[in-house]
Amino acid sequence: MMKAALGTELLHASDAEIEDAIAHADPMVLRGLIYQLTGDPELESIALKKVTVWLMESTGPAGEAETALIRRKAAAFLKAYRDDGARPIPPGPAERLRRSIDLMFGETIPDESQGWIHEEIALDPWARSLRWSAPPDPERLAAFSVTVIGTGVGGLNAAIQLRRAGIPFTIVEKNDGVGGTWYENRYPGARVDSPSRVYSHLFGVDFPCPYNYAPQERNQAYFDWVADEFDLRGVIAFGTEVTSLSWDDAAAMWEIRARGRDGESVWHSNAVITGVGFLSRPNLPEIPGMDMFEGPAWHTARWPEGMDLTGRKVAVIGTGCTGYQLVPELARVAGHVTVFQRTPQWLMPLPGYLARVPDQLLWLDRNLPYHTNFMRLRNQYRSGADLAKMFDIDPDFDDPHSCSASNKALRDRSLAFLHSKLDDPDLIASMTPDHPVWSARAVLVDQDYCILDALDGDSVTLVTHGIERIDATGLVAGDGTHHDVDAIVYATGFKANDFLYPMTISGRGGTALHDLWAADGARAYLGCMVPGFPNLWMLYGPNTNGGLQVPAFHELTTLYALQCIERLILDGASAIEAGQEPFLRYNRLVDDRNAEKVWSDPRAQSYYWVAKYGRSPAQNPFCGTEIWNLMRHPDFADLEMR
Ligand SMILES: Cc1cc2nc3c(=O)[nH]c(=O)nc-3n(C[C@H](O)[C@H](O)[C@H](O)COP(=O)(O)OP(=O)(O)OC[C@H]3O[C@@H](n4cnc5c(N)ncnc54)[C@H](O)[C@@H]3O)c2cc1C
Repeated sequence: MMKAALGTELLHASDAEIEDAIAHADPMVLRGLIYQLTGDPELESIALKKVTVWLMESTGPAGEAETALIRRKAAAFLKAYRDDGARPIPPGPAERLRRSIDLMFGETIPDESQGWIHEEIALDPWARSLRWSAPPDPERLAAFSVTVIGTGVGGLNAAIQLRRAGIPFTIVEKNDGVGGTWYENRYPGARVDSPSRVYSHLFGVDFPCPYNYAPQERNQAYFDWVADEFDLRGVIAFGTEVTSLSWDDAAAMWEIRARGRDGESVWHSNAVITGVGFLSRPNLPEIPGMDMFEGPAWHTARWPEGMDLTGRKVAVIGTGCTGYQLVPELARVAGHVTVFQRTPQWLMPLPGYLARVPDQLLWLDRNLPYHTNFMRLRNQYRSGADLAKMFDIDPDFDDPHSCSASNKALRDRSLAFLHSKLDDPDLIASMTPDHPVWSARAVLVDQDYCILDALDGDSVTLVTHGIERIDATGLVAGDGTHHDVDAIVYATGFKANDFLYPMTISGRGGTALHDLWAADGARAYLGCMVPGFPNLWMLYGPNTNGGLQVPAFHELTTLYALQCIERLILDGASAIEAGQEPFLRYNRLVDDRNAEKVWSDPRAQSYYWVAKYGRSPAQNPFCGTEIWNLMRHPDFADLEMR
């Protein structure tokens, strides 16, 4: 693959414009990238120092002189490249890449991470596509069919990868558009809390990234681009909701039933890939009198289009990530916001969380070849590895509120932030969680304007006495106070642990998948396959939350599925499923590892841990490197094929 500056922008750039853009770049990204493109040995010997970003150790140039040297070299490269006509250039020698990546991170990346890291930099945007190990028989290939359910980040990629592999597929979506989570969650303040640079597929690395943490509209724009760029809209059956999947063992086919605009439809496929999401089905609480309320009421994932709350009195029920994102935005327009909170969440303040990135950085994305690739990797590796350490329980660390020294440091930082924002001791107490940081999802917030600023003003009231009932005009709190409101917003999250809900799924011998999962929650082999349910792969299946960024996890799982399908087609087999023993072995490992994580603390009452099961059906306890090594090449000894 060769990249060039886009258009003629660079050709017309002055030296001063180039220098200004370079001055806004991450010097370590420049160091790795320019070394990759030039092999300049001086970049290898730059003195470095440890820096702490967000309590995580990172490495940067030792001082201003070192930073200036890197920038000078980058600017010189870009000027020369401009003067040479800014033609497409290759990404430098493949054998240099490992060293360049080490230089960008200022550390030696271990051998076991190399496979993952080299994919994640997306120099090959199709690194997670199936490459047939032998040419498939055209007739067998044409006779094989896969149904993909859902068009979020997972379903869209599955369709693209199936098409690239030449495998026939059908794709259905219950909504009228693509994007899944981002199509549905349009509440004010909705945005990602994982870095946007890595919230895309490998093939989306060059999609413009004007925010470090993009708002809903930007995420939706990305998924619309994916659907259009890969010409998928014409093949997606929109407005079609799959209701059941039944395995016909004699035919070795899935029977798929769906409800659509024209009634019920039934069809058959050799295989199914579900991309139905995880935080996808709204969870509404059962509160006495809910139906009595005479004003409008809705779940945050069903935000009414054009809803104008200017000057209105609004109740927000629920304070997970969504509630904390929503309330500061509502506070700007509503007459009054009453927030009903069961459990406070830890806040992770980030300067510029809501801000656009400087135009100069976007200019570099367009004009410095491979800048997007190195930026992506810098965000990916750092965002996962170090944070994960703060989730591990240190058995020798004795503290009722924290699970380790680094977890305590995180707590101290969050507490300091809380105290810096609020004076009222009662409010501070109400906003201080009992549970350790990250035993429930902590909420990333903007350092300058967030839920705490909203609560500190007169237009927001926090209620922590619970809700006794709802009546025609408002809510009665646990202390008997009536809160009069014009509208009620349920920010009450999703049925996260009800995997594949509400479809009914029956496998070999008519076994119902949800019966199998009734005793202690959903389980799968590698998060994607279940014994007795052949040719079925789940994206965002049990125990796949965390460890890898969602798009990367979905890409790996899809490639895993495609490698299994390849095997079926090449070997003339009809069914493949996880073996019972490997399934149990993997689940023992997952449960044991999850028990060593901070989210095994049940105080948080979150979807990370289900107390009645004594385990987490949701969380993935592994780090990115481990997941990649587990999933990248199927271990066919663990799978049974017929
Ligand atoms: C408000 C919010 C913020 C989030 N922020 C982040 C973040 O910052 N970072 C992050 O990594 N993750 C975040 N997530 C998690 C997010 O869900 C995933 O990142 C990602 O969008 C999941 O993609 P997906 O394709 O697996 O599922 P989804 O995006 O949920 O898409 C599933 C699709 O399947 C369709 N579908 C479901 N059931 C059926 C059926 N039976 N028949 C037909 N179609 C069906 C749905 O309509 C939907 O389009 C967030 C989630 C929410 C709700």
